[in-house]
Amino acid sequence: MIEEYDFNLNHVASVIEEKRARVVGLQFPDGFRREVLRISKEISRDTGVRCVISANSCFGACDVDTGLLESVDIMFQFGHAEIPNITVEDVYFIEARSLTPVLPVIRQAIGTIPDRVGLISTAQFVHTLADVRKYLADHGITGVIHNGDRRIAYPGLVLGCNFSAAAPDCDEYLYIGTGDFHALGIALATKKPVRIVDPVTEEVRMPDVDRMLRKRCAAIERSLDAQAIGVIVSTKIGQCRKELAFDLCAMAEAYGLDAHILMMDMVTPDALRSFDLDAFVSTACPRIAIDGSAGFPAPVLTPVEFEVVVGERRWDDMVFDEIL
Ligand code: SF4
Repeated sequence: MIEEYDFNLNHVASVIEEKRARVVGLQFPDGFRREVLRISKEISRDTGVRCVISANSCFGACDVDTGLLESVDIMFQFGHAEIPNITVEDVYFIEARSLTPVLPVIRQAIGTIPDRVGLISTAQFVHTLADVRKYLADHGITGVIHNGDRRIAYPGLVLGCNFSAAAPDCDEYLYIGTGDFHALGIALATKKPVRIVDPVTEEVRMPDVDRMLRKRCAAIERSLDAQAIGVIVSTKIGQCRKELAFDLCAMAEAYGLDAHILMMDMVTPDALRSFDLDAFVSTACPRIAIDGSAGFPAPVLTPVEFEVVVGERRWDDMVFDEIL
């Protein structure tokens, strides 16, 4: 099924008019790149503004193209819900809600869903949670939608770095969305089962938590002999955890390791290749270590995994790295 989205261009036009903007920045995640030129053209045609498209990658609302922002009157970032505890003036988040219906796949899963379940989703489907809850209630199931912390814009919304909207009083979760990463994160963060109901592929599946844990265990094992480590700090506005990096450096040094802080925007294997280091600890987006560390010149750990490496934390007490 081809997924279609509501880019809410009427709202975009009304913001442009209200702000009397003349030059407008546009930022899109890579997954929406095929829509960029059409949307830019449509906005220019309907409002008369000059659009400037960010050609940089955009991974989340944490990742505002501040360079582009300096060159435009206002900027729209598509595909992400705002992160309420990050204040950036003149940036408007357009969530790009999916138009794919969710109830067909819920109907398919209904016989496997327990009597009480936490409902969670991403920005593309979080607007469907109230309908899902009603559908479940009609079938005698309680669906719980929980408020997240200050990083979370909507009840039930999860980010790859924040699972605070997973209701604490549920023994299982229903993740409505695509991909496995968020569901894996919830499973690790809550230590409870998560069922993925994917409206696009119409699949119902469980994420492979054991496989991910095996990979993380392997990364930790490969780091046990590390003598020199690089602690990565992101310059992205919603990923920068400088204080944590300083603490990790101090911890490494207390265990006799050589530790260096590396500050960067895009964390890529090429950018790190020239450093002669035995392991990296990423304080940037948790996905870098967990989902995207293939090809890096040395293991990439999350901060909690590094604590396991030096013996500050037991493997059994490992938790998912979250940004609050
Ligand atoms: S830090 Fe990573 S998971 Fe969190 S919002 Fe940014 S891109 Fe998404």
